[in-house]
Parts: sequence; structure tokens; C-alpha cells
Amino acid sequence: LANRKFHAQPARIKVGKAEIGPDTLALMAGPCAVESEEQIMLIAQAVKKAGANFLRGGAYKPRTSPYAFQGLEEEGLKYMQEAGKATGLYTVCEVTSLEAINAAVKYVDLIQIGARNMQNFYLLKEAGKCGLPVILKRGLSATLEEWLNAAEYIMSMGNENVILCERGIRTFETATRNTLDISAVPALKSRTQLPVIIDPSHACGVRAYVPALAKAAVAVGADGLIMEVHNNPECALSDGPQSLTFEQFDTLARELKAYAALS
Ligand code: PEP
Ligand code: MN
Repeated sequence: LANRKFHAQPARIKVGKAEIGPDTLALMAGPCAVESEEQIMLIAQAVKKAGANFLRGGAYKPRTSPYAFQGLEEEGLKYMQEAGKATGLYTVCEVTSLEAINAAVKYVDLIQIGARNMQNFYLLKEAGKCGLPVILKRGLSATLEEWLNAAEYIMSMGNENVILCERGIRTFETATRNTLDISAVPALKSRTQLPVIIDPSHACGVRAYVPALAKAAVAVGADGLIMEVHNNPECALSDGPQSLTFEQFDTLARELKAYAALS
């Protein structure tokens, strides 16, 4: 189902009035985690003003340490919905369990399967039944073949609205949190009709490097970007070091639109 051989045209995935696919650049932005009603509303307004069309925000946070902040769960989903409604942004939230999927369908427009769950085949099948478009992140050490098979798991359950998200892979390099596999974009485009987006925030883990990677994503033909933006990155409950400030996102969004218009 995800094989380009059987699809003459790249897929266009509809989310409300928006489309993810050729001839448009999806700009998804927001905090790593929804921290409060006020925080997500403030960030939603800022990223909307800067030109984003999707709001990201985690309500279920699978963290490396079990003692770190784990997310507001259903309460966080409600705040996402309110922020989406107030700004006209479409909302995306990661799901980590069947319980999270059942809650997410009530509040958000897309769901995200995180890197650590890319081969959670049970979760993939449930995502395939939920009726919402799915952003499928690449596993930390997954090959393109494994990743596309994960997409097949979702699609084989009747949901063909899958968006692939390259978010950096594990390599020997330690200067960045992960290594952005920019070549995954053209390599995927020749293998699948599915849209491909880039997450430069998790790929590098360093706020100062995010703009360069985001521009590279546009240059190689990515269909969109998902980036972390925070009102006060120093105090963020998760992923502060890689979160852009409002000013940085505003500048970057303007530059990206200019880049996209040139390509
Ligand atoms: C996230 O998007 O906040 C996240 C946890 O990403 P990943 O699954 O790519 O690590
Ligand atoms: Mn994060």
C-alpha cells in the first residue's frame, strides 16, 4: 500500500481545509509537552501569527527516565483542542497506548506515533483503525524498509493517511542529539507516495542548529516541518534546549516560506 510502484502520484493527505503533500509546506509547531492551558494557548497564538498551520503538543510523554514529567494526558488533549479552536490551527498529539488513541480521537486532528513506538505493531494497528491521519516517526535505528513496513501496518487496517517523519537516527556522532538523515527524503520519495516531513528539533537537540536543518529539509523536497517552540525554553518541562523562542520561530517561518516559494 505504501509502495510508489502502485501509485502514479504522490499522496495528498487532507486535514480539514489543509493538505499535506505536493506544492505545499506544512508548518507544524508547538511545545514538546502541553504544560498548562495558558501555556499551550499562548504558544498556539504565537505560532499561528508566525504562519504555522498545525499545532503540536505532547500530552503523553514517554521520557527516557520514568521520573521525568510524563504529560497531562487527557487534560492536555482538551487544552490542545481549545488552543486549536481558538486559533484555527489543526492539532497533533503523540499517542502511546490504545487508551491514548481513544482519548485523542475526541480532541485532536492528527495523531503521532513516536520514534520509540515505530515497531509497536499492536499500537500501529490500533492507529490504523482510529480514523485520523497518522504521523509516523522514524525509529531511532530503523531502516527505510522497516519504517515503510511500519507504515504498512497502519495502512493495512484501512487508514492510508500516513505521513512519515524523519527525526534523526542514532549514529556515533555526539555533537547533536541524533543525526538528521536528510537523504531519507529523496530515498523515500522514490519508494513511496506518502508525504515526508522533517523534525529538525529532535534530530539535532540544539536550538541554534534548527533553522539550518529546517532549510535543508525544504531544499530536499520535504512536505513539511514539525518543530518545537516554547514561550520560555529555559523553563520548559521537556526539550527546552532544542525549543525555539517565539522570535526565532517567527524569523524562521518567514525564511522557510521564501525558500519554499523558490523551490
Ligand atoms: C516528540 O515529538 O516530542 C517526541 C518525543 O519525538 P520522538 O518520538 O521523535 O522522539
Ligand atoms: Mn520533544
